[in-house]
Amino acid sequence: MKIKLYNTLSKKKEIFKPLKADYVRFYDCGPTVYWYAHIGNMWRYVISDLLRRALEYNGYKVKQVMNITDVGHLTEDDLAADTGTDKMEVAAKREKKTPEQIANFYTKAFFRDTERLNIVHPHVVPKATKHIKEMIELIKALEKKGYTYWAGDKYFVYDISKFKNYGKLSGKNLEELKAGVRLEPVPGKKNPFDFALWIKDPKHLMHWDSPWGAGYPGWHLECSAMSMKYLGPSLDIHTGGEDNIFPHHENEIAQSEAATGKKFVRYWVHIRHNLVNGAKMSKSKGNFYILQDLIDKDYDPLAFRYLCLTVHYRKNLNFTWKSLESAQKALNKLRQQVAGWKTGKKGVPEFEKKFLEAINNDLDMPRALAVVWDLVKSKYPDSAKKASLLKFDQVLGFRLAAQTKVKIKIPTEVNQLVEKREELRKEGKWQEADKVRQQIKKLDWQIEDTAKGPKLRPVHRIKRD
Ligand SMILES: [Zn+2]
Repeated sequence: MKIKLYNTLSKKKEIFKPLKADYVRFYDCGPTVYWYAHIGNMWRYVISDLLRRALEYNGYKVKQVMNITDVGHLTEDDLAADTGTDKMEVAAKREKKTPEQIANFYTKAFFRDTERLNIVHPHVVPKATKHIKEMIELIKALEKKGYTYWAGDKYFVYDISKFKNYGKLSGKNLEELKAGVRLEPVPGKKNPFDFALWIKDPKHLMHWDSPWGAGYPGWHLECSAMSMKYLGPSLDIHTGGEDNIFPHHENEIAQSEAATGKKFVRYWVHIRHNLVNGAKMSKSKGNFYILQDLIDKDYDPLAFRYLCLTVHYRKNLNFTWKSLESAQKALNKLRQQVAGWKTGKKGVPEFEKKFLEAINNDLDMPRALAVVWDLVKSKYPDSAKKASLLKFDQVLGFRLAAQTKVKIKIPTEVNQLVEKREELRKEGKWQEADKVRQQIKKLDWQIEDTAKGPKLRPVHRIKRD
């Protein structure tokens, strides 16, 4: 079945056709690892994950690359942003750590969250600081072709007036852009939107030697350099948040296509903002949440994943505690249903077709969820329903299969007895310890001693892994 995707470049839904028949080159703009990713960021990565899973569900082999920005992302993400300070440096000073320590810490935190949200790990996760050489090569290629100049003696910049179709992704033209400038342009820039490829700054905490002096690369450069290194000059899909369209993705196109002469990205997929109670999330408004905040209130991270599926990615996801509560309830209900059913070999073709239609129609996950519930409520045999639902879960990512096997709550009483037995064993009171084992067994739990400590297995129940 054909997949339709909305392409920001053409501003319409198109039939997806990768460059190579069954292979998809997939790139996501990854996190800047200077702070915890908020739930708006995570909504974006959940959508990317759904898209990758949907492609794989359709039989495509996907190679997914997601960068880690650990240098060069400036604090003022506005227009002539080259005057801001590097977010990594700001964080390093704030936390009295090295930029590398900051990057490692928040990269780990980011992937802990993606794991909790059951987001499949990308195949390649390149770090900007490990690809300075590739970025320098890209600047050299642009310099050779006459796309660059010095703005003052600090900024080596890209001349957007040299690139014929600048603005083709965002639909902005140069004149409009100039009229909308709000910031004082960097002295020496011909156009305020000419952007830094290299910033000469030997005092920057992280700096590298280059033909343009010691300094560091401009932020936009890394995505072009790293995506092309791992996926080749033309990508099939590039995702990002809608705020990345301009200037970040526009600049990625300008520098990549100028360097290679080839079309950089075939399908641009942009995810809309996440709102909280209808407002933009911000620290000052006190409506800024990270995944841990949800977990601290006893929500399952997958309830947030469920919530992400209730809204189409080209609409704003409006986060409220009430909507999360509903998502949690729906997810629990789905789990309970599935856990109580035996798995059959055959699913329900009628619903499998509807599900596929939904995900292939520009990733219509709200529709796909409706299909899930229609199936649950249908009169088909439970075993067939379950077979289909477990198949759908390859895309949904609710860990429905694991749920049926593992999620059995161990009663407090049993846990206390296990602790008691451990104490006795430590004291060498083997006979008494064995008595406790019998007590545990009476409560229908079997204890097994492993290298990692005692493990519990319910007796007369579903076997655990
Ligand atoms: Zn990017």
